[in-house]
Amino acid sequence: MEPRDKVNLLDLDREGMEAFFAAQGEKAFRATQVLQWIHQRGVDDFDAMSNISKALRARLRACAEVRRPEIVIEQASRDGTRKWLLRLEGGNCIETVFIPEDGRGTLCVSSQVGCSLNCTFCSTAQQGFNRNLSSAEIIAQLLVAYRALGDTPKGERRISNVVMMGMGEPLLNFDNVVRAMNIMTDDFAYGLSKRRVTLSTAGVVPAVDRLREVCHVSLAVSLHAPNDALRNELVPLNKKYPIAELMDACKRYVADAPHRKVTFEYTMLAGVNDSVAHARELVRVLQGVPAKVNLIPFNPFPNTRYACSSREAIDQFRAIVTRAGLVTVTRKTRGDDIDAACGQLAGRVQDRTRRSQRLAAAATSRVG
Ligand code: SAH
Repeated sequence: MEPRDKVNLLDLDREGMEAFFAAQGEKAFRATQVLQWIHQRGVDDFDAMSNISKALRARLRACAEVRRPEIVIEQASRDGTRKWLLRLEGGNCIETVFIPEDGRGTLCVSSQVGCSLNCTFCSTAQQGFNRNLSSAEIIAQLLVAYRALGDTPKGERRISNVVMMGMGEPLLNFDNVVRAMNIMTDDFAYGLSKRRVTLSTAGVVPAVDRLREVCHVSLAVSLHAPNDALRNELVPLNKKYPIAELMDACKRYVADAPHRKVTFEYTMLAGVNDSVAHARELVRVLQGVPAKVNLIPFNPFPNTRYACSSREAIDQFRAIVTRAGLVTVTRKTRGDDIDAACGQLAGRVQDRTRRSQRLAAAATSRVG
């Protein structure tokens, strides 16, 4: 059998793994055993799975494999942030970042190669969209990071939280992302609580409702503007799902979970969305929504038209939102010496969208 015909067991959550073993005439507890071998012990060689019979191991070798992306580069920042560049089948690369903080360690995971949403202040958008990641490619980011961090000297904290805030819009790759998050939260794989896994979205409203039903992880929403006119410009998806609809979906998301809040991310862009009036408008927009606010200093990238707000503007903005009773945190920029900060994850994307054709056409017409 060619490798491509084999089932990649990294693609399977508990349900999938149980179905796989049922089809082999095996009991459901095999799923638990294999999940533990793969995800908790980092074993991908069936022969090393000692609590599985030799006969079953041989059958697994014939029809299945654990196929993970290759680590191309691993970098460490002065502040402890680590970054891995992973090469996927087909040649594209994605990035995963580990951010150690006091009392926790957060892994920032990508969900797509590139992104189709075109947010004007995001460097991933500039690269266009290539494809969705498989569940295996998403969960492999945890596998790689857990293995690598396990080998480091003590003092560096391991992963306590995962945020789907890398490249891509996770809710536009819904099924694969949910399956990967099922593995993250499975006690026999990574055992993270649903509160410690955060999905960040630009606001795909119907998918927010579906997510609540199938995998109720913590929700973060990339808001960045307090009114539709400005948000249409910064986050074009807003034209499809305007702020009022998005806020209703956020309220529904936490309605049955009294202590839960939605985190609203707001990238601070000098002279664009950072005035006192914007802060007041934001407070009004978030009225009635159980919310926390995360202010993100804009991270510049080549050819961007934006600049980061001044320290004073950010502090003033934060003071206004805080005074209104909303917990507001200004996110520290981490790992910028290794280009690992928000919106800087680049990978190497072979753009298959129309954007690359437009750019190529423009280049040709300039030449001609
Ligand atoms: N598509 C999802 C997941 C990407 S998350 C979403 O929109 O939420 C990446 C986070 O980093 C988002 O909040 C995004 O708005 C923010 N971000 C993107 N580019 C940035 C930049 N250049 N500087 C600071 N934050 C940025």
